[in-house]
Amino acid sequence: MTTDLYAQLAARLGPKGYAADAETLAPYLKEWRGRFTGHTPFLAMPATTEETADVVRLCAAAGASITPQGGNTGLVGGQIPAGEVLLSMKRMNRIRAIDAANDSLIADAGVILQAVQESARESDRLFPLSLASEGSATIGGLISTNAGGVHVLRYGMIRDLVLGIEAVLPDGHVFRGLKGLRKDNTGYDLKQLFIGAEGTLGVVTGACLKLFPRPRAHQVALAAVASPERALALLHRMKAATGAVAAFEIMNRRSVDLVVKNVPMSRDPLPGAPFMTLIEFEGMDAAGLRASIEDALAAAISAGEAETALIAENASQARDFWRIREDISAGHRPEGAQVNHDVSVPVSQTPLFLERANAAAERMCAGVRVVAFGHMGDGNFHYTLMQPAGSDAAAFPGEALSQMVYETADALGGSISAEHGIGVARVADLARFKDPESLAMMRAVKRAIDPNNVMNPRALFV
Ligand SMILES: Cc1cc2nc3c(=O)[nH]c(=O)nc-3n(C[C@H](O)[C@H](O)[C@H](O)COP(=O)(O)OP(=O)(O)OC[C@H]3O[C@@H](n4cnc5c(N)ncnc54)[C@H](O)[C@@H]3O)c2cc1C
Repeated sequence: MTTDLYAQLAARLGPKGYAADAETLAPYLKEWRGRFTGHTPFLAMPATTEETADVVRLCAAAGASITPQGGNTGLVGGQIPAGEVLLSMKRMNRIRAIDAANDSLIADAGVILQAVQESARESDRLFPLSLASEGSATIGGLISTNAGGVHVLRYGMIRDLVLGIEAVLPDGHVFRGLKGLRKDNTGYDLKQLFIGAEGTLGVVTGACLKLFPRPRAHQVALAAVASPERALALLHRMKAATGAVAAFEIMNRRSVDLVVKNVPMSRDPLPGAPFMTLIEFEGMDAAGLRASIEDALAAAISAGEAETALIAENASQARDFWRIREDISAGHRPEGAQVNHDVSVPVSQTPLFLERANAAAERMCAGVRVVAFGHMGDGNFHYTLMQPAGSDAAAFPGEALSQMVYETADALGGSISAEHGIGVARVADLARFKDPESLAMMRAVKRAIDPNNVMNPRALFV
């Protein structure tokens, strides 16, 4: 039966459209950090929506399930198959159309984010989604994980940037929702179902994306702050005073120290600062923007919200400031046993989250090392707890610490997964922390659209 399926798929896709040999499959079966490895009998690489629909229809008819994959940069393992047919969207890589007068662009699902950013720029527009994986992550993967990144504060998650979606449903029918409308109140907004669905409800094949005016002025500042409370006050001052904050990131002292220790050629621009905030601004008038930032930072220093601040003098210095933030993961990865989290709380609760989680972690594991950094302007921390220096890795209570972190976020009205998703890595945590009514609704939606569990059967649900 399955041999028939693979022969049918091969015949439909042609020699460029499939692979089953170990050498070609290898890079698709391993997540880049080596945390997830998988296996598949067949890699399908359709080049069109029609080919994708036929692949899904043939798999569904044969009772085979499918794992979709875009750029394979996901952090929770949902793109790595465990015996399912692997459906790579990489050959669907065309920008289909740009309608600059509608501030919109239509892209195939396999187009890499950087290519969308460049296309928008060529039309003197901005596609504002930006994250460190933008050179590999695809539009379909970003939509399927509802990716966030560094500009959520100003432009929202990708959910806020999608006007329309085309997707192949689990029975092979095509949902044709590629509209470029900002207003469309005609019942349920069905495209939303595919955003953040992690491939469990169908295969996204194309999207109509929202574009924005391209900012003419950019500035990046670093500020040393004494505490998360002061960082929060600084965030609101800078937002109100400049109206131009596009990103507001926080880094605790340990996160910066470990970059300097473990990432060659790194330098600490504000030595000794208990916390560093990195603030990016966008505007249209360079001189006016710079003046308003200088005034606001001076007022923040007078008010005690910031201790000192640096404004990048040019694009190269701005990139150096960002590099510290982007190197934080590389900085703490070599430091032994650790548990990483991607949690969110209401922005107002960010200081309390850090205070409670840090104190509880220390009670549970004396000397635990905390790396706390991330998108504070969105209430989102990448919060890592690491074994005490020189301790026995085997004695590190990682799982108990993770549950404490999730409970702490949950008690403050937060989420156990702010932007990376659930995948296969966090299914047990979702079952524990999502409220039962929401989980029941999610299951009902899954049953209605994919009753035979064809699409990404191991993601989201236990
Ligand atoms: C260095 C680095 C930095 C990152 N920074 C951020 C960040 O700041 N913010 C953030 O939100 N995320 C971040 N991420 C994770 C981010 O979620 C992914 O990079 C991206 O969203 C996934 O895109 P992808 O094309 O690689 O998808 P994949 O990893 O291939 O797939 C991700 C999930 O989507 C599904 N999927 C993929 N394509 C489709 C499709 N066409 N139709 C249906 N389902 C599909 C897969 O089955 C899987 O469940 C980062 C990742 C890395 C490696």
